Amino acid sequence: MIRQATKTRLPKRIGRLDELAHNMWWSWHVKARQLFRALDYPLWIISGRNPVKQLRDINPDKLQAAANDPSFLALYDSVMDAFDSEVSTQDAWFTTKYPNVLSGPAAYFSMEFAIHNSIPIYAGGLGVLAGDICKEASDLGLPLVGIGFMYPQGYFHQRISADGWQEEIYKQLDFSEAPITPLFSSQWGRTIAEVQLENRTVRIGAWQIQVGRTVIYLLDTNVEENSPQDRQLSARLYIADRELRIQQEIVLGIGGTRVLRALNINPSIWHANEGHAAFMMLERVREEVEAGIKFDEAVEKVRANTIFTTHTPVPAGHDAFSVQLMDKYFCNYWGCLGLDREAFLDLGQQNGSGNESFNMTVLALTMAERCNAVSQLHGTASRKMWHVLWPESKEEEVPISYITNGVHVPTWIASEMAHLYEKYLGSDWLKRQDDPKLWEQILDIPDEEIWATHQLLKRKLRGSMLGWAQQRWTEAEVMPQQVLAMGALLHSEILTIGFVRRFAEYKRPALIFQDIERLKRIVKDRWQPIQIVFAGKSHPADFPSKCLLQHVYRLATDRAFQGRIAFVEDYDMHMSRYLAQGVDVWLNVPRRLNEASGTSGMKASLNGVPHLSVRDGWWDEGYRGNNGWAIGDGPRACKPDEEDRADAEALYRLIEDELVPLYYDRDRSNVPHGWVRVMKEAIRTVIPQFCARRMVKEYADRLYVPAIRESHDRGAKR
Ligand SMILES: *Cc1c(COP(=O)(O)O)cnc(C)c1O
Repeated sequence: MIRQATKTRLPKRIGRLDELAHNMWWSWHVKARQLFRALDYPLWIISGRNPVKQLRDINPDKLQAAANDPSFLALYDSVMDAFDSEVSTQDAWFTTKYPNVLSGPAAYFSMEFAIHNSIPIYAGGLGVLAGDICKEASDLGLPLVGIGFMYPQGYFHQRISADGWQEEIYKQLDFSEAPITPLFSSQWGRTIAEVQLENRTVRIGAWQIQVGRTVIYLLDTNVEENSPQDRQLSARLYIADRELRIQQEIVLGIGGTRVLRALNINPSIWHANEGHAAFMMLERVREEVEAGIKFDEAVEKVRANTIFTTHTPVPAGHDAFSVQLMDKYFCNYWGCLGLDREAFLDLGQQNGSGNESFNMTVLALTMAERCNAVSQLHGTASRKMWHVLWPESKEEEVPISYITNGVHVPTWIASEMAHLYEKYLGSDWLKRQDDPKLWEQILDIPDEEIWATHQLLKRKLRGSMLGWAQQRWTEAEVMPQQVLAMGALLHSEILTIGFVRRFAEYKRPALIFQDIERLKRIVKDRWQPIQIVFAGKSHPADFPSKCLLQHVYRLATDRAFQGRIAFVEDYDMHMSRYLAQGVDVWLNVPRRLNEASGTSGMKASLNGVPHLSVRDGWWDEGYRGNNGWAIGDGPRACKPDEEDRADAEALYRLIEDELVPLYYDRDRSNVPHGWVRVMKEAIRTVIPQFCARRMVKEYADRLYVPAIRESHDRGAKR
């Protein structure tokens, strides 16, 4: 529907612009972005770099002019050529290495997907990972479909009041400007599948978003036949209410499976990204039981090609539902599995039988043959945490492996940096991004050149921050100090630390304020000062985290810090790019063993912004001594207060004794060679090891393909 509305208006010569706008492939290709930018630059910016909206609102004269402009047409042709060859090539990595192994795509279930700002259906790192996996799967030719939700209100927008309190604003997404296409069933129209919730039937609609060759199906309960309440079920991401959450997870897991069936998609691999999607496994067992197999045998069959990735290193973080809720929503379901109530509830019990709540991670760990954590350290922590489920095994034999997260390089790299890599590493650098040998050549880039590029990115960030502050000043009642807190007084020659992530207690956003007087001395140093930029959202129901945010915000507006501490509101993916590319150093101070992996530090490092972090998550593997800095000792649990005090002390010492002197040690042309060496080491070591390419290859090599081969072998034996 939506697509045809724009299609008719496009001049024939550039008639495929609409198709390109509806494939998020454009978002990770510089030339494709340039194409839309060239069409109408002001409108491109006004429409939030969303080509669907741009094409909807553009003046037809501009389209006509573009269709007659030889330089635009040359760019158009080259982009469309690249698009066609990349999304249809048969010689991508996966197809070449594993011809005819998969009989159907891998189905990847996730509560959130972060693809681009124009489709705000993510909250944080979990969604970014899912989005990056979809993009990389496309690049590698790995057949994959995503299953998630089309939340019309997504996650909230953040406003901070003058006294530092976070306010949540929910905006309704206009679906006509989102890069999605509705699906219709010939039989039921918008309804593609149904699930039972208590005694009622809830209909599920679906939208499709194209991400290169990956398709993501986004579920939506806002269809006419549903009650007004059920229509709101998929309105928002991560609602705190437990009952709504179980309903959402039933829609995702059970409904998602049925949507795939209705679309005639026959996955050969079923992958749950975190426990939220684990009901998918029950539904597949139910299908087998319905087809006449016994429960145990059905579980064996389902297990063989089920993959589960766990992301939560602390017990309290795991999704669990009360027995009352399970009774309410599954009393008509366990019979279909051939189970009684007790046997059913046992599937989610952490400590054998009992009446504990039903734990989604336990369900997933027992229903998936292959389970993985998301960093080496997280693997160890997970095996320890879940040893209870395999009491007869040794801890190191608990069947949870790890595949460390990675980030999709073309998405997170600044085009200015990409240009440098192309110049010094060759035009095929992206193709060889996971080859450590390629990155040796990074040392060939002259210090002056890489430093100048970094400075340019830093000025770009400053310009953007001024723009955001100005917009805030113009559009709403704000106090002048709020505008200053958005970074109006920052200076692009000063060492700038970024602390940008979800505000959660374990991430310790206020750690750097442990000793306020010492920090003031560091920040206000007459000759070698520093600045700190904060950004991040608190979950609306997380009161302690909102208090932390307020604490940080109040210090940002405190005159005593001279405007050198900034808090940027409404952190999102777009901002994340600018910040990770344009500060000097990326700070990360989670309480040890609380961060499963973390990925934002990888995004920073690949742009030459070194990581300054506690050795937790990926940094325990990534730190090499000269490619960034490690705060305090290795992973070791001690009392939280002691840990805070020790880490704050170590952080101050690093800043005072190492970062500041290194940063301000300049040659005659003002280049800090020592600092640039750290930047280069960050790039050289982080990209090949922590790119999504390495990660997705590992998922394919170590989980997907073995699972397929094993289930074939089993099938053959029978
Ligand atoms: C990368 C990213 C994250 C993940 O950040 P961590 O610091 O690894 O938790 C969260 N949100 C956004 C918008 C991101 O781009």
